[in-house]
Formats: sequence, structure tokens, C-alpha cells
Amino acid sequence: MPVKPRRPLVAANWKMHKTVAEAGDFLERFVASIGGLEAVDLVVCPPYPALATAVEWTERTPIRVAAQNMHSEAEGAFTGEVSATMLRDLGVEAVVLGHSERRQLFCETDEALARKVPAALEAGLVPILCVGESEAQRDAGETEEVLAAQLAADLAEVSPSRLAEVVIAYEPIWAIGTGRTATTEQAQEAIAFIRSRLARRDAGAAEDARILYGGSMKPDNAAELMAQPDVDGGLVGGASLDPADFLAICRAGVT
Ligand code: PEP
Repeated sequence: MPVKPRRPLVAANWKMHKTVAEAGDFLERFVASIGGLEAVDLVVCPPYPALATAVEWTERTPIRVAAQNMHSEAEGAFTGEVSATMLRDLGVEAVVLGHSERRQLFCETDEALARKVPAALEAGLVPILCVGESEAQRDAGETEEVLAAQLAADLAEVSPSRLAEVVIAYEPIWAIGTGRTATTEQAQEAIAFIRSRLARRDAGAAEDARILYGGSMKPDNAAELMAQPDVDGGLVGGASLDPADFLAICRAGVT
């Protein structure tokens, strides 16, 4: 199998799980067992209260810490919100944006994401932008239309010169937290389509941008998914809560 041109990235999306102590316990075990994973970018995405402790535990390790959301403004009267500048100040290096749970449960719009993605880049955070179709949209044959619309809107204000810095996660909504994983063919097809849409903006960026698969990725299906030519890693929810399972998935990303 040819060596992939892009460095794999595997991210643990803990959602609203883990206290500060639990995050510390996870990272103590995880940090001690990442030998041999030098070829993979490792990212953990704790809830806000555990970000600082995660940054401390991962200092002097290759593991990077990401938040799960942010506001597009640097500061202001936005009660309950957190800015990219504040995350950078904590030592956070990346941020998940547009997760389907935020889109569906918290009314996150493409308009808001069009502001958040460039704001993250401007502040020095790597945006991990989630896109994906619902089951009804897939059944109606609308997957590509939905992905194209999300990408066009959410990346509208990102200049071609910075497009490759955005990590994209293809997360079919019907596969998130359901135990139903996309087939390798479905994941490859959708991610190749995403790459083709990036290429319309900038061919080089499309070659370089990492595009992850997310949706019930587990130790027993991760290797096959990540071996697909356009799949550059994974965004892992449920299976990332256990350090041994997450480690096994990260090891599956070593090509
Ligand atoms: C996610 O929330 O990004 C995700 C992929 O969840 P899960 O792995 O649990 O399906």
C-alpha cells in the first residue's frame, strides 16, 4: 500500500464526560503508553473545565489539547461563551467546530461557523470542522449536496492559502453514538468527495488537508477505515473515553 502523503490525526472527543480528576487519570495512563505513535498526531478534546489540567498533563508530550466549541468574537457580552483567545491563553491548540450535536441540539448554524472557522485560524487554533449528513438525507441521495453546502458555507471566509490548515471530520449523523459505523466504502467515497470540493478552491490545499472519519469508530474497525486512501484519521467519541480503547484506535492509525 502506498504511504499516504498526509500525517494521520486521531482525536478523542469526550463530549460532556470526565471531571478534572477523571481527565487526569485518563491522561496519566495515556501519556505513559504512547510510545511508537510518533507518526500520528494525537489530540484530546476535554470539556472546558478539564482543559487546563489536560494542557498540564500533556506538556512536553506530542499530545495536543482541543476544545469542543468557541465563540467567533475575541471578547464581549456573550454570557456562557468562550473565545479563541481565551483557549489559546490556556495552551489549547485546536477546536472542534460544527459537531452535529451542536448543530442539532444547540442551533449551531453555518453562518456562525463561517465566522468561527477563520476566527480560530486567526487566533492560532487548528479548527476541526465537522460535516455530515443525516440518515434521511443519505436515504434521499442528498449526501453530496449536504456536504457541499456545509463546506461552501463554513469555509467561505477561509482564504485558499489557509485552507490546508483546517482539519475536516466527516461524521455521518446516523453513525454518531449509534454503534452503526459507515462502511469503508461509504467513508472513502464521502471523504474523497469532500477532498474534491476543497480542490475546487485550491488543489494543493485539497492534497494537504487532513480529513478524518467519525462515527462509532472502535478498536476493531479503526484500522480498516483509516487505511482508506483519503481517510487521514479519526474523530472518536464513545470509544475515546477509555484510554486502552483510544490507544488501540491511535495505533490503528499508524500506516
Ligand atoms: C463524535 O462525537 O464525534 C463521534 C464520532 O462519536 P462516536 O464515536 O461515539 O460515534
